[in-house]
Amino acid sequence: MRPHKYIFVVGGVMSGVGKGVSSASIGRILSARGFKISSIKIDPYLNVDAGTMNPVEHGEVFVLDSGLETDQDMGNYERFLDTHLPEENYMTNGMVFKYVIDKERRLGYGGKCVEPTYHITEEILRRIKVSVQKMKPDITVIEIGGTVGEFQNAIFIEAARILKLQNPADVIFVMVSYLPVPSKIGEMKTKPTQTAIRTLNSYGVQPDIIIARASTPLDKKRKEKIAQANGVREDHVISAPDVDSIYDVPINFEKDGLSETLLKLLGLRSKNGHATGLSDWKRMVARMRGAKSAVNIAVVGKYFKSGDFVLSDVYISILEALKHAAGKLGKKARIHWLDSADFDQHESKEAKRNLSGVLRKLSHYDGILVPGGFGARAVEGKINVICYAREKKIPYLGICYGMQLAVIEYARNVLGLKRANSTEIAKDTPDRLIDVMPEQIKNLQKDVYGGSMRLGSYPALLKKGSMAYRMYGKKNVIRERHRHRYEVNPDYVDMLTQKGLIFSGVSPDGHLMEIMELPAQKHPFFFGTQFHPEFTSTPLHPGPAFVEFIRAASRRR
Ligand code: GLN
Repeated sequence: MRPHKYIFVVGGVMSGVGKGVSSASIGRILSARGFKISSIKIDPYLNVDAGTMNPVEHGEVFVLDSGLETDQDMGNYERFLDTHLPEENYMTNGMVFKYVIDKERRLGYGGKCVEPTYHITEEILRRIKVSVQKMKPDITVIEIGGTVGEFQNAIFIEAARILKLQNPADVIFVMVSYLPVPSKIGEMKTKPTQTAIRTLNSYGVQPDIIIARASTPLDKKRKEKIAQANGVREDHVISAPDVDSIYDVPINFEKDGLSETLLKLLGLRSKNGHATGLSDWKRMVARMRGAKSAVNIAVVGKYFKSGDFVLSDVYISILEALKHAAGKLGKKARIHWLDSADFDQHESKEAKRNLSGVLRKLSHYDGILVPGGFGARAVEGKINVICYAREKKIPYLGICYGMQLAVIEYARNVLGLKRANSTEIAKDTPDRLIDVMPEQIKNLQKDVYGGSMRLGSYPALLKKGSMAYRMYGKKNVIRERHRHRYEVNPDYVDMLTQKGLIFSGVSPDGHLMEIMELPAQKHPFFFGTQFHPEFTSTPLHPGPAFVEFIRAASRRR
């Protein structure tokens, strides 16, 4: 293999300070200097993938083209690098251990005692190399999840240490740390970061660069302190203050000359001279920031609440896709998270007393979006919202569950099939408008839930002359990513079509309904996709469904 460069990114002090965005931004600034970049995410949990985790626990499950269900950071990498990443670029402790244990059961280690070090670290490094062979990048950025000092990610840091030992000139370490400013003290404190660096030292690793996350920029004194205490060069301590938009982060990194420092440490020379190469990125950020008027979008879902906190992380790709689309049109997307339970007469007291009054509040929004979801809870609330959007001609975008429920609403209120439902919600409904896909029945019977949905990128044929066809640039075939077990029941397609619903995207064999829309003379924008267009939207190439949705919403405004 030709010499290849690796940047490991680890976290110090605490989680949730933007290690994923920092890793993605490192990728962006280096790709802007003319290098081919690949990004890998390592998650320390034992789940074999992220697919079985409750979104409220873990945030969004991000699906790759291959169908692997991964962590939302993979979404950040794809959005910042403006690319699609292969499944080899994601690993969990569960995946690594399962592989090693399965191999041991097959006598794959020829009778040896199989141990975490060396066999687990060997497997981690094998996976990294497989990814490099597949992507053939110049540099791979590898983010190790969790925080330094945790038991569960230590084996990955050990693998990284071994890689550095074998290739001293090709491996560097970046620590993304946090510097608190306690309100009573009023001074930015470096001690937690000093301690985190010492913890990393105890693994045999010295960080080359510290990305110092804090509420404000770091001053020279703090940089000096870290330099003195930990032997990290002062100009290798990068100030990373809070920003309004995550897309500012690469630009901010360059204020401290991060790409130049990284290249120097890796022994590389920029392929495009001194320019940062970020001009298209900066234009995009300026357009987003310069937006004068806002569109108000209601996102009606159910995975928002964790105690007293609202978790928009569950829908992060949708949130980002709305921003990308609005930015492209010179608008600002103002997102309002609404809990579908508030529109469900079984779930909310207020809705029970006065549903039409509760629904009327929706008329203040320029567009309504119902995202993907699972299970029966608060589903009637979503159907009520969709009915309101359809009847009052408010632009509507339904994604996955949001499309399935729109089809159910149409069947109930336009076709008069009052008990129309999904068998996910009501097993014995007489009108199974949405039904489990035949190949899924066995999975459900055998309780096989992990990685068993219809997952990943599939083609859809677009109907000429439809809104879908126009928005995707008059392509006959598109590819988008899926994550579902149920589908529109083909037995009802003729009935729905006769009553005006258009299925403008279908699978190549014609069986699966992938896109649903109403004609322009009936509704300004009533559009649903069985796939998740949010997974492929990037700030430089916003997803067409989101762009048209925001366009329709701004017209209403
Ligand atoms: N629960 C639905 C299904 O499994 C929709 C899934 C989704 O919205 N991602 O088909």
